[in-house]
Amino acid sequence: MKKFTRRAAVLGSGAVVGGLLTNAMSSSNPTLAGTRSIKPAGLGNTLNDASGLSETPLFRHVIIQDDRGEQMLAAIRTELAEARSNGRCVNVGAARHSMGGQAIPRDGHAISFDNGLVEPDTANQRMRVHTGARWRDVIARTDPLGFGPKVMQSNNDFGVAATFCVNAHGWPVRQGPMGSTVRSFDMVLPGGELVTCSRSQNAELFGMTMGGYGLTGVITRMDVDLAPNQRLEPTFEEMPAESFGTRFIKALSDTDVTMAYGRLNVDRAQFMTDALLVTYRPSTDQTDLPAASGSGIMANLASRVYRGQLGNERMKRLRWWLETDAATTLSSGAVTRNSLINEPVVTLDDRNPDRTDILHEYFVSPDRFADFVGLCRTVIPGSYQEFLNVTLRFIDTDPDSWLSYAPIPRIAAVMSFSQEMTARAESDMRRMTQELIEGVIALGGTYYLVYF
Ligand SMILES: Cc1cc2nc3c(=O)[nH]c(=O)nc-3n(C[C@H](O)[C@H](O)[C@H](O)COP(=O)(O)OP(=O)(O)OC[C@H]3O[C@@H](n4cnc5c(N)ncnc54)[C@H](O)[C@@H]3O)c2cc1C
Repeated sequence: MKKFTRRAAVLGSGAVVGGLLTNAMSSSNPTLAGTRSIKPAGLGNTLNDASGLSETPLFRHVIIQDDRGEQMLAAIRTELAEARSNGRCVNVGAARHSMGGQAIPRDGHAISFDNGLVEPDTANQRMRVHTGARWRDVIARTDPLGFGPKVMQSNNDFGVAATFCVNAHGWPVRQGPMGSTVRSFDMVLPGGELVTCSRSQNAELFGMTMGGYGLTGVITRMDVDLAPNQRLEPTFEEMPAESFGTRFIKALSDTDVTMAYGRLNVDRAQFMTDALLVTYRPSTDQTDLPAASGSGIMANLASRVYRGQLGNERMKRLRWWLETDAATTLSSGAVTRNSLINEPVVTLDDRNPDRTDILHEYFVSPDRFADFVGLCRTVIPGSYQEFLNVTLRFIDTDPDSWLSYAPIPRIAAVMSFSQEMTARAESDMRRMTQELIEGVIALGGTYYLVYF
């Protein structure tokens, strides 16, 4: 019989209670009457990103699904040469989830990779991947071998090279960003030359490409570290938000902790007063690890509670109670490392054509975390964006990337807003974002270019 875990119970109880209470706790969003829509027109030969707010005309979009060695290199070189001789831009992408439109070449050549080629080398805890491989391909190939990605984002739909080019981070702890797990890569330069880059070969190009948003060339293959898969047990701890920075660092001094994240409450009346810290340690039983699953139906059900928060303060408080009080009183639930990170983005999809999810992310040093909370309390409630979630992660020093957002250890605050697709919401978002960015810079922090 399938074990009823705390994780499942939290997600499941959230779903049931959420379903029952949705009607009683109905939302109140501002009316759209008389507003100016900024929804995409859905025109042909355009490209958009995950925000839906970046519809941009292209000259051509080429999708490369097969890695046929020289044939693929020739196709890339042809595209680069044609664009250069006509003065057009070229951009390479994978899942095209990065927001802000900066990865879309206006009237230029877009090349998208979608190729699941993953060659594990378990003896050296490495893999060679075609750069269009998605993390779900990596997990599908390595999980049966007892391995998985060492560092990746919270969702599995993204491309491996794309992850390196934005230098994404995850929540395995005492780890730097994903770039810290990349050993080397092959790249076609704008002039067509194929080069290999590592920390010892073309090292400068390696550092410029890590977090370089595809500006240096087209990555075709990469050698990336793997980590052993493990069964993990969670521990939950609630605390005042101001204490989180200190407490997080203390928790990480326990070398048994291998994955960790935090949350802050988001209801407007008590905004960001409480924090939750969730740490994962290896279970004593590491036998018969189940295949990587993701949280499947439970995550889908829990997303109803998540979405029920829109314009509904009581639902925000209910979700917080489910994640903290309910979670800490239910029995513990072990889960494998690979299952924790094998979550598709679609789980979060709001399916509301009038709104879009906008992510923000700020990085502050742990000793400025309380000041960061103060900044958010001052700025965010003054906007009418619907703030649905903030997740907190640890990122260790990144000494490699030229555009490093973690020159010293940082706490990352990943924020999710639901925004109306209207001109008024866009200007409200612009004002709030500007205030947050300026405030974070004044705290010695940084912000994540992927979302702006
Ligand atoms: C729901 C959601 C959750 C997220 N969670 C996290 C998270 O937990 N942690 C985190 O750090 N980030 C997170 N992100 C951000 C995410 O990591 C980035 O948006 C990532 O780039 C998405 O991958 P992609 O395949 O969509 O990239 P794309 O948008 O397709 O590309 C990203 C960049 O990489 C470049 N690029 C792509 N492939 C190549 C190539 N072969 N050669 C050269 N350049 C290339 C592109 O030009 C572009 O600049 C999240 C985003 C979303 C929407």
